[in-house]
Amino acid sequence: MSFYAPTEEHEMLRETARAVADEKIAPRAAETDETEEFPSDVYKSLVAADLHAVHVPEEYGGAGADALATVIVIEEVARACAASSLIPAVNKLGTVPLMLSASEELKQRYLPPVARGEAMFSYALSEADAGSDAAAMKTRAELDGDHYVLNGTKMWITNAGVSDYYTVMAVTAPGEGARGISAFVVEKSDEGVSFGPKEKKLGIKGSPTRQVILENVRIPATRMIGEPGTGFKTALATLDHTRITIAAQALGIAQGALDYALGYVKERKQFGKPIADFQGLQFMLADMAMKLEAARQLTYHAAAKSELAMHGQPQKDLTFLSSAAKCAASDAAMEITTDAVQLLGGYGYTREFPVERMMRDAKITQIYEGTNQIQRVVMARQLLK
Ligand SMILES: Cc1cc2nc3c(=O)[nH]c(=O)nc-3n(C[C@H](O)[C@H](O)[C@H](O)COP(=O)(O)OP(=O)(O)OC[C@H]3O[C@@H](n4cnc5c(N)ncnc54)[C@H](O)[C@@H]3O)c2cc1C
Repeated sequence: MSFYAPTEEHEMLRETARAVADEKIAPRAAETDETEEFPSDVYKSLVAADLHAVHVPEEYGGAGADALATVIVIEEVARACAASSLIPAVNKLGTVPLMLSASEELKQRYLPPVARGEAMFSYALSEADAGSDAAAMKTRAELDGDHYVLNGTKMWITNAGVSDYYTVMAVTAPGEGARGISAFVVEKSDEGVSFGPKEKKLGIKGSPTRQVILENVRIPATRMIGEPGTGFKTALATLDHTRITIAAQALGIAQGALDYALGYVKERKQFGKPIADFQGLQFMLADMAMKLEAARQLTYHAAAKSELAMHGQPQKDLTFLSSAAKCAASDAAMEITTDAVQLLGGYGYTREFPVERMMRDAKITQIYEGTNQIQRVVMARQLLK
């Protein structure tokens, strides 16, 4: 058996996640998109089923799910509602920097509340003028006795305002570039922390995206994650693990669109027969399913590598594979959701049917955690080094 095949436990977890998604999340997806409100009830349902942050290790009170299990949960939630899948995905994004690099004290303090569903965790790397070139960030953290004082504005932060905790990357040694950046845990309740208005987005509207504004935020130096100057390294090492969760989100969105289109083409009749009888559409469906399954296998393979790397077995090709999975799955999701709209014809273009939402939601997976151009830069660098 190949070492990345899902086990019986993984398939049982998928059944559990799909049941919660079908019953509690899918019925809320269109309304969440329409109102642009964070779905607190969905968060509660995920917490009740212990699916909100499955990756947190057991020693910190979590379910201790492996990377593939986390992918499966995100896939199933995203199949119903992409915005809701950012609850388990961003809880992982915010906390992996701690799991990789933080002191035992920080892990003991911040991971258990996430595992218990009492707090969510966001990740704040990007700034208005530092996106693809994240190391060009300007947010500063200055040492003052045994505290750091943070000033700056982080942009595009997923679940900002809803999350209680933030991994914030800031410059501690100006002029030293990426080696002058350190990572910190910032709490929403810290004095001087505020949030910009919600960005008005094309998709994933139920997941708030806001600026995190830091004005003279004074935090104990013990809140630094790892050593001074290692923050950017931790930020990139985190993405090696979490780009796989964006791939999972893309797979879920694409699966939702394919499943909906498959049902529709069997019901819809033109020229006196179901449109599923037309070979032109059958070939489209076959291509959609083929692209999806290829991206899924790559993602599961990357997840298996991520799991080994998390447990002290560094994987040379993890950086390549996580970028490849994110890029392949998100490009596939964009194509598959666009084709799903096409298969529904004019109806697909309306908000009466879910596929236009899925197409809008798919677009973000080609942009965040590094655009797909940047994924190709990363892959090429790995190939040429
Ligand atoms: C909804 C949403 C949620 C987000 N959530 C988070 C979050 O939680 N935390 C966080 O830190 N960030 C988050 N981001 C930020 C996201 O990661 C950035 O938007 C992304 O990395 C791109 O940066 P940018 O928007 O500044 O685009 P730019 O870097 O300005 O890129 C513009 C264009 O130039 C291309 N480009 C840039 N450099 C190169 C190059 N070297 N070669 C080829 N092409 C290049 C890009 O691919 C893109 O097409 C989020 C963004 C969005 C929209």
